[in-house]
Amino acid sequence: MNNDLLIYLAVGLLAYEKQEYGYPYPPTLQQGFNRLAGHYLEQGKEPPGTMTAVWQLFHRPLNQWWPEGALPAELDGDYPLLYDDRVDEQIVEYLAELPVTAATAVSQLEAILDNQLVQTLLEGLRELYHQQPERAQQAYEKVRRFLIEHPYTSNAALIRHLGTIRDVDLTLMQKMYEPAVDKPLFMHEGHYWLCPHCGGLLRWRDGRARCAKPGVCGRLYPDYGGRQPLRPEADLMALKWSIHARTCIPGLCEIALFDTLNSEPYHNHVAVALWPGVDRYDLQLRFNDGETWAVDVKDYKNPQQLGRKIATDTLYDAEPALRWQQGFYVVPFYRTDHHATDMQYLAKVKKAAGKLPPNITILTEQEFLDAVQVRIKKR
Ligand SMILES: [Zn+2]
Repeated sequence: MNNDLLIYLAVGLLAYEKQEYGYPYPPTLQQGFNRLAGHYLEQGKEPPGTMTAVWQLFHRPLNQWWPEGALPAELDGDYPLLYDDRVDEQIVEYLAELPVTAATAVSQLEAILDNQLVQTLLEGLRELYHQQPERAQQAYEKVRRFLIEHPYTSNAALIRHLGTIRDVDLTLMQKMYEPAVDKPLFMHEGHYWLCPHCGGLLRWRDGRARCAKPGVCGRLYPDYGGRQPLRPEADLMALKWSIHARTCIPGLCEIALFDTLNSEPYHNHVAVALWPGVDRYDLQLRFNDGETWAVDVKDYKNPQQLGRKIATDTLYDAEPALRWQQGFYVVPFYRTDHHATDMQYLAKVKKAAGKLPPNITILTEQEFLDAVQVRIKKR
């Protein structure tokens, strides 16, 4: 497999991020280092001599140092392996979509990405949806919103907010969080600190803060300026890293769009539903004349990866209540505004997506809101 090296390094680095102290390195990461050295030697090159040198390489664009022929074709070599000491978003996006195989490193990856927790939640409520769609939908909305609006919580708050939802296993929700009380990873100068973008608990190493998506939160707020200290409850818990990165941070954009569409000048012209059909897509807009739009918010760092995803994706329309006439893929503002890492982002997404059905469009947040306005004025 040409992604072997990547899987070992990434799984190792993800495990490393989770551990409280820098040493010793997780065994998978050690194996990744060994494989990397092996590749270098095979190609007659000197492997990096010190850990500092390795760490520096990891922060450089992959095409400057990744062994030739060992980079999966889906990855863009202009991005690094680590961004601000965290596994780069592009890599996480790639790994999250790898098929589960018997390979140990990949099954470790599943656990590290906590995929199965969110999957279990979804499957449970989809099953209920067949019998009691409204009840399932209400429960799902409440829980999903909680994960987005509470990147940190306490057990008491969890029980207060979610304890009355009979259809969701509270222990499953508890597993989505990890204890943060008195953990050096979450403390800096005697305090816990909140990310100024997403409101999550910042993690610290060597005196530097990092949020779950440093390429988003840390770019919007350089050095996490404006962060606020938190006076914690006794049983403070932080959303697990991968759920924070993959559900909470993109979810902020979904909720912001929902809130915008529920205010002036939109709300008298369109009814909006969040995550209809237990998350068949992100937003459903129903205009007063009955026309329906489906929206999926897609937060990817690598535009090619997103384009390929869209090319193979289908916006769900199997049941009458979820059918739509216009479908939209919308990317968060920070992928296309002055915070963007790539000014050609949207053009690249469209190019990689190829020819789409005429009623499917890829837009920025602002373009999407403009389209809604135009649609309203037409009436
Ligand atoms: Zn953040």
